[in-house]
Amino acid sequence: MTAIAFDLPSDVAAVREAIEVFVRREVLPRAERNAALLEDPRRRYAPDGRYSDEVYALIREVRMASSAAGFFNMCVPESIGGAGMGHLAYFVAWQTVYHTCGRHNLLAPYVVGHWAFAASAVLEHVTAATRERVLPGLLSGEQSMCFGLSEPGAGSDASMIKTRAVADGDGWRISGRKLWTSNSPHAEYCILFAVTDAERAARHQGGISAFLVPTSSPGFKLESVVKLYGHAGGDEGALVLEDLHVTPDQLVGKLHEGFGTALLGVSLGRIYNTARAVGLGRWALELAFAYAQQREAFGHPIADYQGVTFPLAESATELHAAHLMGINAAALLDRGERAVKELSMAKCYAVESGLRAVDRAIQAHGGMGLTNEVGLAEIWQTLRIINIADGTNEILKRTVVQRMLKGDLDL
Ligand SMILES: Cc1cc2nc3c(=O)[nH]c(=O)nc-3n(C[C@H](O)[C@H](O)[C@H](O)COP(=O)(O)OP(=O)(O)OC[C@H]3O[C@@H](n4cnc5c(N)ncnc54)[C@H](O)[C@@H]3O)c2cc1C
Repeated sequence: MTAIAFDLPSDVAAVREAIEVFVRREVLPRAERNAALLEDPRRRYAPDGRYSDEVYALIREVRMASSAAGFFNMCVPESIGGAGMGHLAYFVAWQTVYHTCGRHNLLAPYVVGHWAFAASAVLEHVTAATRERVLPGLLSGEQSMCFGLSEPGAGSDASMIKTRAVADGDGWRISGRKLWTSNSPHAEYCILFAVTDAERAARHQGGISAFLVPTSSPGFKLESVVKLYGHAGGDEGALVLEDLHVTPDQLVGKLHEGFGTALLGVSLGRIYNTARAVGLGRWALELAFAYAQQREAFGHPIADYQGVTFPLAESATELHAAHLMGINAAALLDRGERAVKELSMAKCYAVESGLRAVDRAIQAHGGMGLTNEVGLAEIWQTLRIINIADGTNEILKRTVVQRMLKGDLDL
């Protein structure tokens, strides 16, 4: 049975099947074998809040196993050592990974190279010497990176960043603060954004540059790890940069044009989060259908009550729509279109739909839906984050409106 009328290209369909096999062979057994470690907050996190060494070793193992199996770099451009598959493959792979992992999704973000943590098209824009230095570790999955744009005073409006790169000899000295930098507690490299021309930045005409920096550089400091939802730790860092010296060969993209670099990653990030929401939402919905058929109340399985099942039908409808929107946006990107409106709509709608699907699945489970054992509450937390991270829903809706006001009315 298939819900979608058109076929995926044969190479993408092959990836979908193969990556599910990989997840069932390499990821789920690891997650299950290490459930006591991954699910115990005292063991999941080190005292400073970052993932403990044991957990991070598992993350690295997954990255490296995926690299060896050919999935990790499947969407990295061929020019920098990847397989060069496109956005549709990226969407389909991530959707399959999250749908298959479901509640065991702590290791899921490392099954395919995430653009902010691993090699991606962004690294086509670094010098040959930098590529030689960083790519082997990133492509093998042994090392990772992070993306430092947001700051305490600059989120949705990234043009408000205050981190400054002040000219010094043949390079610059960077000082400032970053907030929310995912994977920074462990990454070997960071793409840092800093103002290189304050006047241009104030006029919103460039003036911000991106630099690839080893996190071991003098002047790069992880100040603290951000903790969410009462957890004992997290994966987002607050960074302090003090007189961090960088040279022109560390530029990513052109001087003063760092936002162009950021935009290269944004599409991949939005495809990723659309797929993640559809995959996790589908997993939650299937769990709810299974539970509704076996749980009884008032002499019947609760699946007999429309009060239980109609919300599930709504989730199915919304997730189907979100799935199609994700496939469509990815296919447009592969055709070379920017798909700004379609991608914004897809990410926003998918995350809202996924979140509603998990909430309805919790309700269908009654009290069991709130337990750690079932895992729905943790998935709800994961999805709630992506209503904010990677472009808030309001910013995405604003983008849709801006495009439509400019005459992009096709739907
Ligand atoms: C878990 C997590 C991981 C993250 N990872 C990274 C990372 O790796 N690297 C990185 O650089 N950043 C990262 N971020 C930061 C993320 O990009 C920002 O949180 C996001 O852009 C929103 O910025 P903000 O939190 O400062 O909210 P604000 O920009 O302060 O927004 C506050 C509220 O105002 C609304 N708002 C703002 N402007 C408008 C407007 N014009 N119209 C309507 N509503 C508006 C927003 O939608 C939001 O509801 C991460 C964030 C989270 C939560």
